[in-house]
Amino acid sequence: MNCSDVCRRIYLDNAATTKMSKTAIDAMLPYMDGVYGNPSSLHSEGQRAAEALVGARERIAACLGCTAREITFTSGGSEADNQAIISAAKLGEKKGKKHIISTAFEHHAVIHTLEKLKKEGFEITLLDVHENGLVSAEQVKAAIRPDTCLVTVMYANNEIGTVQPIKEIGAVCREKGVLFHTDAVQAVGHIHINVGEQNIDMLSLSAHKFHGPKGIGVLYAKKGILLSNLIEGGAQERGKRAGTENIPAIMGMTAALEEACANIDKNAAKLSALRDKLIAGLSKIPHSILNGDAEKRLPGNVNFCFEGIEGESLLLLLDDKGICASSGSACTSGSLDPSHVLLAIGRVHDIAHGSLRLSLSEEGTEEEIEYTINAVKEVVEYLRGISPIWRDLVNGKKEFIIK
Ligand SMILES: *Cc1c(COP(=O)(O)O)cnc(C)c1O
Repeated sequence: MNCSDVCRRIYLDNAATTKMSKTAIDAMLPYMDGVYGNPSSLHSEGQRAAEALVGARERIAACLGCTAREITFTSGGSEADNQAIISAAKLGEKKGKKHIISTAFEHHAVIHTLEKLKKEGFEITLLDVHENGLVSAEQVKAAIRPDTCLVTVMYANNEIGTVQPIKEIGAVCREKGVLFHTDAVQAVGHIHINVGEQNIDMLSLSAHKFHGPKGIGVLYAKKGILLSNLIEGGAQERGKRAGTENIPAIMGMTAALEEACANIDKNAAKLSALRDKLIAGLSKIPHSILNGDAEKRLPGNVNFCFEGIEGESLLLLLDDKGICASSGSACTSGSLDPSHVLLAIGRVHDIAHGSLRLSLSEEGTEEEIEYTINAVKEVVEYLRGISPIWRDLVNGKKEFIIK
């Protein structure tokens, strides 16, 4: 079977972004055309937009198990991460607390914000990630100090899909009186989240990871947490995020979130069956290894390393076969550095370079999975056939790292 048999592209890069759902598009259209007023305007057109905004905030809050006042609309996951971390840092600084705990495999929106704070005199502890892609509540507990002002641990990793024990980590933070933020961009809409039950003080989400529009997201911050605004201007978002609200995007995000949350169990059942079929098929490729725990991972995430090949060439050849895949983070592809996530779980440079992330969507079919397994097998064999490193491994001049 080759690409022309399948007749369409197979999009397996849903961790980078998703296709918008029809529900989301339909929810946006009226606010681009009929109801285009500015919610800050006093006339009826403005007030209709303002009413839509109030409704959307309530509906999003209901999906997360919080109140509407605790929702701040942002331009996406990156901005929400920045605002959460900077707010907590400023609150800490006022009390002389300048220590922050995070992990070695966060998204760059978190890592780079922490690096900035480090230059401003904050001390950052990055917890080691176990080889299975998990951190534990015990690790967090052991790292908390009297001057710790924030713990920020991602809900699910964007490269290897591992899902962290968020409720337990949150409980440790509550017990110690430390603020807890989670970058839940990969988790929201894919696994059940309730901020109250899961002891979460602050949470970031982004619409384009659950079939909503790009450039819109949410920062949830528990009542009583004073946010610092990153953007100065008007009094939108209770003065915490200036700029005319992106009503069409907010309406699209709200509809996409409700749809995703209403179908979580159904989607997860379908996705995890496809995922496990893909994992079983790719595991048969010699000298390959699954990255991240086989069970505690997102229903749609598959991530492998193949010894003796370059991930970039693998992606280009898969693209020729009609498959959209990724080597890991969209932000690092194009650079020669291996993924910091794979290094964090202990993969050595040579192995980390040969990585492949396949992230599935609910529209995926068994036939596509079978086609993908065969395509990856063919491409890996081909690349190994022309690789001098592979020849050295086979001839015993170098030792295999993945047995
Ligand atoms: C995509 C992603 C982000 C960034 O979200 P944007 O809306 O693209 O800014 C942050 N964190 C994680 C884990 C992500 O997957």
